[in-house]
Parts: sequence; C-alpha cells; structure tokens
Amino acid sequence: MNIRSDTALTFDDVLLVPKRSTVASRQAVNTRTLFSRRIELKIPIASSNMDTVTESPMAIAMARLGGIGVIHRFMTVERQASEVRRVKHAGSFIMDHPYSVSGDSTVRQAREEMEKHGVGGLMVLGKREELIGVVSTRDVMFEESESRPISEVMTTREKLVTVGAGTSLDDARSLLHTHRLEKLPVVDHNGRLLGLITAQDVMKVEHLTEATRDARGQLCVAAAIGVKDSDLDRAEACVKAGADALVVDIAHGHSDLAITMVRTLKQKYPQVDVVGGNVATAEGVGDLVEAGADAIKVGVGSGSICITRVVTGFGVPQLTAVADCARAGHDLNVPIIADGGIRTSGDLTKAIAAGASTVMIGSMLAGTDESPGATVVRDGRRVKVVRGMASLTANIDRKEIEQGREVDPEDWEKVVPEGVEAVVPFRGPAKEIVHQLVGGLRSGLSYAGATTIQELWQNAEFIRITSAGKRESGVHDVTQTF
Ligand code: IMP
Repeated sequence: MNIRSDTALTFDDVLLVPKRSTVASRQAVNTRTLFSRRIELKIPIASSNMDTVTESPMAIAMARLGGIGVIHRFMTVERQASEVRRVKHAGSFIMDHPYSVSGDSTVRQAREEMEKHGVGGLMVLGKREELIGVVSTRDVMFEESESRPISEVMTTREKLVTVGAGTSLDDARSLLHTHRLEKLPVVDHNGRLLGLITAQDVMKVEHLTEATRDARGQLCVAAAIGVKDSDLDRAEACVKAGADALVVDIAHGHSDLAITMVRTLKQKYPQVDVVGGNVATAEGVGDLVEAGADAIKVGVGSGSICITRVVTGFGVPQLTAVADCARAGHDLNVPIIADGGIRTSGDLTKAIAAGASTVMIGSMLAGTDESPGATVVRDGRRVKVVRGMASLTANIDRKEIEQGREVDPEDWEKVVPEGVEAVVPFRGPAKEIVHQLVGGLRSGLSYAGATTIQELWQNAEFIRITSAGKRESGVHDVTQTF
C-alpha cells in the first residue's frame, strides 16, 4: 500500500494567475490545436462518444465549427458506419458516393432509401453503374402506385446537366446558378457516376472556412470502437465509411485489452489516427503511446454523469490527471484530450492551460438541438436526456442491441452501473454553446498573455484557492436578474 503525499486538484481548486499581455483583442488569438497527431482543429473541442451526445448531426455541427465529433458505438455496426458516412457526405462540395438506386427499382424502394438515408434525392443507375436519371422526393411524393418503376417517374439523363471530375467550386456555382439547379451529378466520359455536387453543399463550403476537413475537403469525424475481437468488424466498417480517427472506448484504458486494441488498430489502419484511453496517469499515457496511440483521452471519474469514483473508489481529480498526463504527452509528442467535467469556459481554459490539446464534452452538449433524442417537458421546462454509457439503462440497451432481443428483467439486477441517467436544460443549437466556450477561452488566452494554445501552456501559472476564494469567484451578495 502506498499513499501519495501530494494533493490532487480539480478545476474548482485553482485559478489561473493573470499575466502581462500584449494581446489587444480576443480576435488576435489563435485557438488552433491538434485532436490527434494528424488531425488539426481550429477550436479545441470534441463531442463525447455518448448515445445522448454524438451521432451524425452533432459530428457535422462540431466539424463545421472547427472541432470534431466522436460517433458513439452503442448501435449496430451498419448504423455506426452509416452515421460516419453521413458526416463525410455533409462536408465537401463533391460528394463521393451519392445515394443511388438501380433503374429497375420501384417507387416504394426509392421512398425507403430516401427515408433510410435522410436525403431528398437519389441517383438512378443502369447496369454498368452509368447515370440514367435522378429521382427526388417530389417525383414520388404523390405517386399512388408503389410498384411503379422509378424509371417512369424520374428526371431522365437527357434532361440533366452533368459535369466531369475536376470541376472547380467556381464552375459548379456558376452552372448551378445559370440553370437554377439543386444538383449536379459528376460523371466520367463513359457516363458512369463519380459523385454529386449540390447547391446546398457549395453554399456550405463557401461559408465554412473554419471547418475541420480531411485532405479531400470532407468533414473529419471519429468513431468509437470497443475492445472486443468483434469490434474489429466495427472498426473495418467505420474506416471504410471514411472515419478519420478511431477512438478506443473503455473506462479503464490502462489495461491490456485497450493496449492490444490500440496496437491492432494501428497496425491494420496506419493511415487512420487511433485514440487511446481513458487513463489518468503518465504511465497510462506511456503504455498507450508505445502501442501506437496518436492521442490520449484522459479522465477517470470526471464526467458529470459518472459514479465510477463512488462505485469503485478509483479516479484522479481531473486537473491533476490532465497535468500529469500532459507532461508525458508533450514529451512523447502526443496530444491529450481532457475528457469530462467541463461545466464552463473557465474549466475549458484550465484544462487546456494544464496541458491538454482539446477537451471532450458530454452533458454540456447533450441539451442541444444536434444531440440524439427529443426534448421533453419537465416541471414546465424543456429538457433533454443525458446518460452515462455505463448507466443501468445504457447497459440494458447495449445488451439488447448485441443479443437482438429484450433483456430478461431478472438480469437487470446483475448490472453494476458506473453512470447515471439525468436531464439537462434544452439549450438550442450547439454553436451557441461552442461560441460561449471559445469566447471564454479566447479571453483566457489574453489574460495569460498568450496568442496560441502552446503559449498558454508555457505561461500558465495556477494558484490554489480556498472555499472562500471559490465563493468570491462566483456571483455573490446580489440577486442575479439576467
Ligand atoms: P461530461 O462532459 O462531464 O458530461 O463528461 C462526459 C464524459 O463522461 C464522456 O466523454 C466519458 O468519458 C464519460 N462517461 C460517459 N458515460 C460514463 C459513465 O457511464 N460512467 C463514467 N463516465 C462516463
């Protein structure tokens, strides 16, 4: 038995000491950072791989804002791959694999495909993958005969304007405008479909200079993977769908299971960044980096919905965990993701100042439009559900997905949850939360006399505070009205 004599700290135990600053405005600072060795972000924020936080809408929003989303793994392999694909399709002005149906499909099949993928149109392909038409929701909306061939209702090839590979953004914009079009299929000289340009995507690309993109201009996305052998199929499907990073998702990441999975994934997919975790010690960082990890997720017991520390007695207060891990991460040149416990932009700034390159956020984003699930009204207020992935209901749901049938109620008692289910206030679009977080960080950089995150690491000086100091830090002795 060994009792460490140093005191572990978390966000509320400290403040950052202001430094002389040459920064004239919050706009003069740069929040660029690394999520993993090769994925650069404009803002240091990743959304959690939780089933109440990140599916494709959140991942798209995060990547467009300059961060990144990690698609959770508590769904079938096919669905997770399809969520990844949705993100990749959302980002570039040329979509690689537009959804299509074959020319002999029926109206019913086309409707089903459009609904399944959440799109308003499908490319119609002939036997040699050549484009023979386009069918849209409008073509099938009022069609009474479900068995009618779509070749009879689609817009045929002769009436379509198409372009070749290598079309520039400017050319695409001008053609879309001249012909007042929504869609421009991209075909090769044999008429085979190569991709699709939509007016919406062109507009988005032009407005989103901050977005996190891969080398081909598509939005970046990460996918969470478990540590079982069967998770290799999940990894394969997500990589094929275009995932830029695989995040090994296990509560105790300093374990042989996690280390082996990191090593296997890195060997199989050297082109994809692999994130290891979760750990709370420098040794954990070292072992995962040695196995090939391209970033390390830090946080054991720090999450808002987490009861790991209560149930198991294990964990390290998050600021100390991040600082210890970041020292190792910086030596090894691997970015640290501070995962869990972020409640304010001040917490975010402290986590980054302690050496993290990014933070991962769960419940703060769970109340937004882009998180999965509907809003519900509780006591007259709109709320959304957030749940720990080790909570009772998440455990049961996961088992049901794995088994393909309902879990026997007697088996519920066998679960020992390490997370809870809760509600958070509905908060509107994720971009509003992110805007507040990044605004606070920008201010924080200027208080530190830093123009970049790297300078913040160098300049940061923490000071421990008492409960009186903490009380003084919040609103006090007034009745807040707004
Ligand atoms: P939050 O931002 O404080 O809500 O923390 C989110 C983080 O909590 C996630 O990214 C996970 O690392 C962690 N987490 C998610 N579900 C559980 C759970 O059931 N138990 C413990 N930690 C969890």
